[in-house]
Amino acid sequence: MVKSSVLGYPRIGADREWKKALEAYWAGKIDNEAFESQLQEIRLNHLRKQQAKGIDYIPVNDFSYYDHILDTATMFGLIPERFAYEGGKVPLSVYYGIARGTKDAAASEMTKWFNTNYHYIVPELSGLTPVLTENKPLVAYQEAKEKLGIEGKPVLVGPLTFVKLSKGYSASETGTWLNRLLPLYVRILQELQQEGVQWVQIDEPILVTQVSDEDLQHLRTIYDTLHASAPAINIMLQTYFEAVERYQDIVALPVQGIGLDFVHGRPGNQQSLQSFAFPQDKVLGAGIIDGRGIWRSSLQENLDLLNELSAIVSPDRLIIQSSCSLLHVPVTTDRETKLTSELKNALAFADEKLDELVLLTQALTSGIGAIATQLDTSARAILALHQSNERNRSDVQQAVEELRVQEPVRSVPFAKRHLAQQDKWQLPLLPTTTIGSFPQSAEVRKARQSWRKGEWNQERYTDFIHQHIDTWIGLQEEIGLDVLVHGEFERTDMVEFFGEKLAGFAFTQNGWVQSYGSRCVKPPVIFGDVAFDGNMTVEETVYAQSQTKKPVKGMLTGPITIMNWSFVRDDIPREHIAYQLAYALRQEVEALEQAGIGMIQVDEPAVREGLPLKVNEQEAYLAWAVKAFKITTCTVQETTQIHTHMCYCEFHDMIGSIEAMDADVISIETSRSHGELIHSFELNTYKLGIGLGVYDIHSPRVPSVKEMTDMIQRALRVLPAQLFWINPDCGLKTRGYDETVASLQNMVEATRLARDTYATLV
Ligand code: GLN
Ligand code: ZN
Repeated sequence: MVKSSVLGYPRIGADREWKKALEAYWAGKIDNEAFESQLQEIRLNHLRKQQAKGIDYIPVNDFSYYDHILDTATMFGLIPERFAYEGGKVPLSVYYGIARGTKDAAASEMTKWFNTNYHYIVPELSGLTPVLTENKPLVAYQEAKEKLGIEGKPVLVGPLTFVKLSKGYSASETGTWLNRLLPLYVRILQELQQEGVQWVQIDEPILVTQVSDEDLQHLRTIYDTLHASAPAINIMLQTYFEAVERYQDIVALPVQGIGLDFVHGRPGNQQSLQSFAFPQDKVLGAGIIDGRGIWRSSLQENLDLLNELSAIVSPDRLIIQSSCSLLHVPVTTDRETKLTSELKNALAFADEKLDELVLLTQALTSGIGAIATQLDTSARAILALHQSNERNRSDVQQAVEELRVQEPVRSVPFAKRHLAQQDKWQLPLLPTTTIGSFPQSAEVRKARQSWRKGEWNQERYTDFIHQHIDTWIGLQEEIGLDVLVHGEFERTDMVEFFGEKLAGFAFTQNGWVQSYGSRCVKPPVIFGDVAFDGNMTVEETVYAQSQTKKPVKGMLTGPITIMNWSFVRDDIPREHIAYQLAYALRQEVEALEQAGIGMIQVDEPAVREGLPLKVNEQEAYLAWAVKAFKITTCTVQETTQIHTHMCYCEFHDMIGSIEAMDADVISIETSRSHGELIHSFELNTYKLGIGLGVYDIHSPRVPSVKEMTDMIQRALRVLPAQLFWINPDCGLKTRGYDETVASLQNMVEATRLARDTYATLV
């Protein structure tokens, strides 16, 4: 009989009660006991919900106190020395110390979980010996069974994925590390077997990236050993986020089930299945409900796909499941009271996805008639949104059709633009600027809220914003910066701000997802054709410019960043959504230029995040991402200076694409890549204006003149001074007033010194 399964359920709770509990605990507002019991209640609630809906294989050990990779590392006692761990069950103080840092030890680094917006804590293996501190999957299994009578499916991070995502060892030691960990996995499985566990899910998402011959050899050893040691346990070897690499080798491993993603890896996985069939003795975990998207799925299309799969795998060996953990989607649409019914009906968050899984399972077991009504509801909801005015803006669609086939280029090449711009702006050597935002004090946030709630009228709010602009224009002049900004005081978030002003966007009340630790984000929803709907930034920018003779840079968020940080519709390619955004933003760029703003920055910090997992798809993505940026910026006059900004990632391997964006000036974060970025300019030439951040803005520490001088000197060894700009690493909105002013003063001082040195050399 066909069964349903979930790969993981969101931790945060419908009311973000998980986040609130964590933060209350950290703040010392609740003690250990209260905390543990609150988390248990949340965890059991999630299990109850899945049980009530009728999910057959309910995941356990998918819950976490912070992050599942950190859980795995601490389960294996892999705790860097600086946290002074003394053995035994890992105390919460150590666990959270690794995640958040302590007064004596810096936190472990965090990084993005594949191509999602979830961040995990990177395990540091250097110098450590693994030991099993606690069998977490077993504890989770027992809890579900005792408290709720649930026969849970323990979820574990697979050894290969765990080791590959860790740091602190060299590639040649991969095998050694796997050998060290394998006995611990064996023990976990043996104890689970003893307890009577039927299925475990071992997550090996790394198998969708690249699998070398050596990796394959490791996999064989691992799964041979696991199977031989706990033969009564069924292992579901789970992959997700893309099609699995080396399909034939993977499905030949001695496991009982193979989980594949038929949403994000559909073409590849389907192709493999058709070409190479599927082993007769294994179960296929068919991930057909999108664990990352927020849309209701077409039950009919799912049934068609299931039909195709049933021709290859007999129904009694088919499990219908989410494409990945539901960690990446919000909890429920139940609480959304402000969306149009057209939009709300077309959404499916985690709980609604559970319903879909159960319905599809019913259809396969009892026949399609059993879900006739729901099939109809699903089809109508999707059709209604499809036919809505918001998805059928012929003006936008026509414009995008034209833009798609054109090559956006500025009228004059950089070398000539540069001269014209120098002539117009008369900037000194090594011009100084900032990235856009200045400190958002509690006062600023409160004012914005008062205005949003209607307690403040527009006039009062505008006055307030203008006062802040005045203050900071004054400060920037005093400090001696060359290119000024208005400070972004009117913005909550760089994506939300634009989303609220563009057509085609909606905002949920409760559509939160975990980003890292207790931090949750509520991404905007791009549900319709995106369109310009009036000026967005002109008023504040023009006001700021009216207060100074120095140039003020306009400040926009770029199309790719807006797209990558939103939930987007899935009925048209992402590339087209990017062009719609680009076309809308271009109208804002033109409006700024018309209003006399001659420098415009289009931020693209998230370009790299959208990079496909499959290497052979990366080039195409980068090409259309670059094109979207150029559509946004290419129509301005030659003297109008286009800036861009990038951060959060390491960019050293995509300098070519960055150069192809053809921005007159880029400011780029340097601190994260620790010199790698600078090094990459020794290998590549970069011919446009560039500012490598001269100080890290993530800490309140005021960097000294000397530190920044060193940074400037290092950069000028590989980049020409005539094209070099001086700026911080990123926006300053999270910083305090005093440290910001002091840091910028030092930055300007370091620039003065550098000008003296380099003026003679150029
Ligand atoms: N202009 C934005 C700011 O300064 C850029 C933010 C970012 O790069 N994330 O806040
Ligand atoms: Zn930044």
